Amino acid sequence: MKKDILSYTYEELQNEITLMGEKSFRAGQIYEWLHVKHAGDFARMSNLSKDLREKLAEEFDICTVSLVERQQSKLDGTNKFLFRLHDGNTVESVLMRYKHGASVCISSQVGCRMGCRFCASTLGGLERDLSTAEMLSQVYVIGEIIGERISHVVVMGMGEPLDNYDNFLKFVRMLTDGHGLHLSQRNVTVSTCGIVPKIYELAEENLQITLALSLHGSTQEKRKELMPVANRYELSEVLEACDAYFEKTGRRITFEYSLVGGVNDTVEDARELVAIAKPRNCHVNLIPVNPVRERGFEKPGKKAALDFQHRLIKAGVNATIRREMGADVDGACGQLRRRREVDALLEHPPAPREK
Ligand code: SAH
Repeated sequence: MKKDILSYTYEELQNEITLMGEKSFRAGQIYEWLHVKHAGDFARMSNLSKDLREKLAEEFDICTVSLVERQQSKLDGTNKFLFRLHDGNTVESVLMRYKHGASVCISSQVGCRMGCRFCASTLGGLERDLSTAEMLSQVYVIGEIIGERISHVVVMGMGEPLDNYDNFLKFVRMLTDGHGLHLSQRNVTVSTCGIVPKIYELAEENLQITLALSLHGSTQEKRKELMPVANRYELSEVLEACDAYFEKTGRRITFEYSLVGGVNDTVEDARELVAIAKPRNCHVNLIPVNPVRERGFEKPGKKAALDFQHRLIKAGVNATIRREMGADVDGACGQLRRRREVDALLEHPPAPREK
């Protein structure tokens, strides 16, 4: 494969271009074509000489994602996209429309190795990390398709972003770089299942992004039932890391809590969640679990979710129930891709193995 030019930071591109014997201002032009005008082809870069365009095409690939399927919710304007990568793998992204603008949720890996019990993305394990270009391209392509500026990005799709730390970090820096799309760092959120050393590392990066921690259980025991990562890091350690992130960045932490009917939605669970959230400057985002065919967990009833939320609010905790976006499309992480795989298997079942 040729070099992946879309993963080069502005400074890296300047280096490459001067090494090719070109003037460094050319890097600015190329960067703008790639990251502002979203050119998927060097031939479009009309302010470069034909000679330079050809040289670039010989050395570099522009690794964008390409659209396979788009589902549009009739209920709330949520769009779900399935994208193909250059090696044939597929990932999902979601567009949500809010009053404050267009928000895109991107994937950071093909599959995931974290094994959360209710999550579809993890069913087939981790296939591979996404490159920085593949993460950026999800945002760019959606922006091009809808013809609007994307103002918010959440890294909450398939994969564990802090398990693909270097590419993820570069993605954030490039997305918020003044030479590119120039999103405000405050409009970027990363969601993690709680990889403690990486949370500390992120706190030191001098960024203003929001950290969302997937909590899902308010005791070590409950968390262990739902999230294998809890076997590695104790809940108390994870919370200390979140506190350190807040101390360092001043950014309020979001705790995500997928409500699973009969598993973590009891009065006792609410009480323990209050004990965690009350003393902290945080926001609790309740997500009624999206049942995944293979997992068998149940969504709590509407009333149960509202009761749970009210218990938190009454105790002085800032809690919202995530608006159920795109309930009529394959809503939860990894479900669209999963359905595609299952459909493909039904159409082309694997040949029976020889004895
Ligand atoms: N790996 C990261 C980000 C990806 S998932 C993380 O764990 O945070 C984004 C959020 O959706 C996480 O809180 C995840 O636990 C939650 N989630 C995944 N599958 C879900 C489902 N079926 N129902 C509800 N929430 C789900």
